[in-house]
Amino acid sequence: MAVVLIPAAFKRFAGGENRLEATGTTAAQALKSVAARYPALGKTLFASTGALKPAFQAFANGTLLNGDAAMRAPMMRSAELSIVPCVSGGANVPLAPAESVIDAARQSAATLSNDEILRYSRHLILPEVNLEGQKKLKAAKVLCIGAGGLGSPLLMYLAAAGIGTIGIVDFDIVDFTNLQRQIIHGTADVGRTKMQSAKETIASINPNVEVIGFEEEFTSANAVRIVKDFDIVIDGTDNFPTRYLTNDVCVLLGKPNVYGSIFRFEGQATVFWAEKGPCYRCLYPEPPPPGLVPSCAEGGVLGVLPGIIGCIQANEAIKLILGVGNPLIGRLMLFNALKMQFRELRLMKDPACPICGDNKTITELIDYQQFCGIRGEEAAPQAVEENEEITVVELKARMDAGEKLTVIDVREPYEFAIARIPGTTLIPLGQIAERSVDLDKSTEIILHCRSGKRSADALNQLKAKGFTRLKNVVGGIMAWSEQVDPKVPKY
Ligand SMILES: [Zn+2]
Repeated sequence: MAVVLIPAAFKRFAGGENRLEATGTTAAQALKSVAARYPALGKTLFASTGALKPAFQAFANGTLLNGDAAMRAPMMRSAELSIVPCVSGGANVPLAPAESVIDAARQSAATLSNDEILRYSRHLILPEVNLEGQKKLKAAKVLCIGAGGLGSPLLMYLAAAGIGTIGIVDFDIVDFTNLQRQIIHGTADVGRTKMQSAKETIASINPNVEVIGFEEEFTSANAVRIVKDFDIVIDGTDNFPTRYLTNDVCVLLGKPNVYGSIFRFEGQATVFWAEKGPCYRCLYPEPPPPGLVPSCAEGGVLGVLPGIIGCIQANEAIKLILGVGNPLIGRLMLFNALKMQFRELRLMKDPACPICGDNKTITELIDYQQFCGIRGEEAAPQAVEENEEITVVELKARMDAGEKLTVIDVREPYEFAIARIPGTTLIPLGQIAERSVDLDKSTEIILHCRSGKRSADALNQLKAKGFTRLKNVVGGIMAWSEQVDPKVPKY
């Protein structure tokens, strides 16, 4: 019996299971059999044509099923099918050869002071690094997009390792909710810019590192200017527009892109380098529809997870500079922190890739917000009519006036346990369509979530089922905490 492994982000569509038994003799049939049992999962994975949506890839026993023919070929009866989404998320995988991004001239031009020789002594006595390698590290210029969860550990290790020039792109401010994982920032840094905080931490670890800060949003307009002088780009971003932009600028400029992504307890890492292997678009030609894959802010993340994945990225960057070992080119490393399991999937370059394939259709940077259909980190809230909105202040006034209101909280039970608005009923977003039969169409229904986004989605789902008296609470329970009752904790 074949099994289909369900990624964490989609367990909610598969009755909470992460392994589903499947029937059929091909991967296409196996996936269909699972989709038939879990229609929500089917709708998530398959386009109306019945093909797997381009935002997903299927792997059978660790090998990418590239294209329709592979999906329809007979498979082993005990095949293990993995669905790998654009997350944020094998056997006999060939290892790419080592090659340094630093040429001999730059290496020999680098010099180390006596202090540096002492500092790096544990590197210098490693034959794979030695003085030559340490000079390569000193000559290297590495750019990290983002000084957040992934950026924190990798920037600290790159600094400690003696990378000569580190570029950082980030214009964010340190927030209390960052501290659980973004260890380059401390409690006293809350409210400061991440750039300032990261620069100070790096200087305290290793004053020999030159840090070039780009305290601006990474966009199509500035990406080439920012990236062009660096040897390696490390993707430490948390949103799809920036991921695609990072990929495309790296492909166009011929730079290696050390990729990492995290979600809840699972992480992914690889090295995309179009000149030597696949790029991000070979794997995912298109982003998932907005809102399908939750961000860390929505889905949560184990604090140590970006530490593990970020360290893998730092390790790969250092190997690319030293020219030792086998880089993670053409291999997607999947890590599961709960099982403490690493899996490796083989990635192929896609000849039909729009940016690195045989017939390129993308030859310059595009509008990535538009391409991904979202604005920045958070998906744009689903539109609701103005007369379908209610503020927390209005809601409180109506409650205080003694009105009997039906207020439905569409968050998850664990969020309900953290904070709730009194007198509300919990129906998680994933169940709202199904449980709408229990709701009365003739009464007004007020919907809320954490920030107002999911409840807008719920409102539109109920509207499609013929409900007409609906209201969405603007700003959700976060606004309630700010404007009505500060005793309700924000999270
Ligand atoms: Zn490609």
